[in-house]
Amino acid sequence: MLLQVRDLHVEFRTHDGVAKAVNGVSYEVDAGETLAVLGESGSGKSVTAQAIMGILDVPPGRITGGEILFQGRDLLQLKEDDRRKVRGAEMAMIFQDALSSLNPVLSVGEQLGEMFVVHRGMSRKDARAKAVELMDRVRIPAAKERVGQYPHQFSGGMRQRIMIAMALALEPALIIADEPTTALDVTVQAQVMDLLAELQQEYHMGLILITHDLGVVADVADRIAVMYAGRIVETAPVHDLYKAPAHPYTRGLLDSIPRLDHKGHELYAIKGLPPNLMAIPPGCAFHPRCPRAQDVCLTDEPPLYAVAEDGARESACHFWRETLRDA
Ligand code: SF4
Ligand code: MG
Repeated sequence: MLLQVRDLHVEFRTHDGVAKAVNGVSYEVDAGETLAVLGESGSGKSVTAQAIMGILDVPPGRITGGEILFQGRDLLQLKEDDRRKVRGAEMAMIFQDALSSLNPVLSVGEQLGEMFVVHRGMSRKDARAKAVELMDRVRIPAAKERVGQYPHQFSGGMRQRIMIAMALALEPALIIADEPTTALDVTVQAQVMDLLAELQQEYHMGLILITHDLGVVADVADRIAVMYAGRIVETAPVHDLYKAPAHPYTRGLLDSIPRLDHKGHELYAIKGLPPNLMAIPPGCAFHPRCPRAQDVCLTDEPPLYAVAEDGARESACHFWRETLRDA
C-alpha cells in the first residue's frame, strides 16, 4: 500500500477554543489508484491532505494523534529535513488557485526548470529543455515558444496544466489535488480532470482528489471517501456509491448534483449548515441535518459499519441498511 492514514487527529487552537478539524480519519491509497475525498468546506478534507504533505501551519494546526504511513515509513516520525525531501520529490500537491501558487515574476519555464536544477542538479539549459518536455506532456500548445512566458499570459486552464506539470516534474509516487478544477469553466474542468486521470495512469501514481463536487470526480475516481465534521462517514467504490449510497449525507450530496435530465427542476440542498468544529454535535454529528435521525443518533456516535463483507464499503450510520434499501 502506497499511503495509509491511520486514525489521524488534527486540532486548531483559536481564541475561542479548540477546533477539532480531523477526528480519527483513516484511508488508504495504492499506486495507480484514485481516491476522491468528498465533503463540504470545513469537513477536514483539505486539512487531512495538508497533514499528509506536512504543510499544516504549525501553530495553530497540530496533529494530536495517528499515523501517516507512506511507502512503509511513518511521516509523522520524520525530521523536517527528511520530510522536505519527501515533499515535492515523492509526493506533490496541486491547488485550486494556480495564479497564487505560481510565482508571477518568473517565467513558467524557469519555475518548471527550477525543480530539475534544485532536485536533480541539472544545468539551466537542460532544465529548460525538461520544462518544454513537461509542457508538451500536459498538452500546452506551442510549448517551445511559450516556455519563456509568465503565468498571467496563460488562461486559467493552461495555468492549471502548468501546476500539473510542476507536480509531475519529479515523478512523485503520490499526487494530492485539492479542488484542482474548481476555479475553471465547466468544459475546461472536464479537460483538466481527464488530463490528470490520464497522466495518473501513465505514471502509475496514487492520486487523492479532494472536491466538494461529486459530479467532477465520478468518471475518474476508483473509490470515494465522504467526510463530514472531520470524520469519514462513507467509503465505497465509486459506482456502488452512485448506485446506492449507504449514508444519508451522501444521499443528500448526490441529490444536489445538477443533472441535465432534470433541467428546470429545483436543486435539492441539504438543509442547515456543517457544524461548528468547536462544538460538534454529540452522537452522530450529522443528526441536526439528517432526515432519517432517530433518538439513538442524538446520543450514540455511529462507528464505521461494514456495508460490504470484503471491507470495500463502510458507512457511519446506524441506519445504513435502511438508507441502502431506500436508495
Ligand atoms: Fe442520520 Fe442517524 Fe444515520 Fe446519523 S446515524 S446519518 S443522524 S440516521
Ligand atoms: Mg478546502
